[in-house]
Amino acid sequence: MHVLVAGGAGYIGSHTAKALARAGHTPVVYDSFEKGHRWATRWGPVVEGDLADRARLLRAFRDYPIEGVIDFAAYIAVGESMRDPEMYFRNNVANTLTLLGAMREAGVRRIVFSSTAAVYGTPDRSPIPEDHPLRPDSVYGDSKLMVERILGWFDQAHGIVSAKLRYFNASGADPDGETGEDHDPETHLIPLALAAADGKIPHLSLFGTDYPTVDGTAVRDYIHVADLASAHLLALDYLIRTGQSLTANLGTGQGYTVRQVIHAVERVTGHKVPVIEAPRRAGDPVELVADPARARQTLNWTPTHSSIEEIVATAWAWYQRRPSQNA
Ligand code: UDP
Repeated sequence: MHVLVAGGAGYIGSHTAKALARAGHTPVVYDSFEKGHRWATRWGPVVEGDLADRARLLRAFRDYPIEGVIDFAAYIAVGESMRDPEMYFRNNVANTLTLLGAMREAGVRRIVFSSTAAVYGTPDRSPIPEDHPLRPDSVYGDSKLMVERILGWFDQAHGIVSAKLRYFNASGADPDGETGEDHDPETHLIPLALAAADGKIPHLSLFGTDYPTVDGTAVRDYIHVADLASAHLLALDYLIRTGQSLTANLGTGQGYTVRQVIHAVERVTGHKVPVIEAPRRAGDPVELVADPARARQTLNWTPTHSSIEEIVATAWAWYQRRPSQNA
């Protein structure tokens, strides 16, 4: 099967392209390379193009017999989204609408969409089931929720079925070391803790030590990117098999505090992580943990790489060989 992977040169997209190729499919990576990396595209044909470019998308749909789309192409920085809502709504919502319009015109009727736990905002309870109220606290989260709603209407109006996958904390790297995370600027906990352990940055700022948790630091559900990738393949199979749309959380159901993650980084690297305790980061909820029951039941998905040790060990191995460190 040929699958168009929009944003396939990015972090989760490249792992999913590899997983598709391994399963015998052809990932057709569609990426603008504004954020994506050439080195992350080694598992199939590459089309350089922007999601805003309907004609380019239609040409890709003509050039390859695409049976489904997996869409990762979006901006992801919460803080930036609050400073520039127009940029986020234009890229994440308007450009995705262009993709959906091109799919409709080309007769492509299945899409797996990258959504996020940020659609829940500050949750009332934890773990969070999919039917929890949706009250995003950020422009980023709202941009993803808007697309979820648009997808619902495209199913009703055009029979385009969709899997909306709400990621918790994507982390780790390809266990074979062929791809991994490389954001610029980096804002995520694990790569920053690794850089601090390695002496590349002087310290890690620990945002918030007065949360009502076991050690005062915030709790998150870290899910290995290889497990996220496998969920996308299962979701595409689900769309083909059932012809029905789906919304599912992707997390482990197990939370770790920031301090627990820092300790895992220290165990794995053998280096101390210099930490400076800092105030809470605006908009950070105390705890975000998935109820992953639906993905387990409907997709038969089981994370197999998401122990905190494997997440940190694969991230550390990747950190030490990632191409940009030589740049
Ligand atoms: N965090 C931190 N220092 C950092 C980056 C993150 O203390 O330099 C904390 C952050 O406040 C949150 C957790 O680590 O509680 C995970 O943050 P990340 O940005 O990796 O993912 P998020 O949960 O925001 O999607």
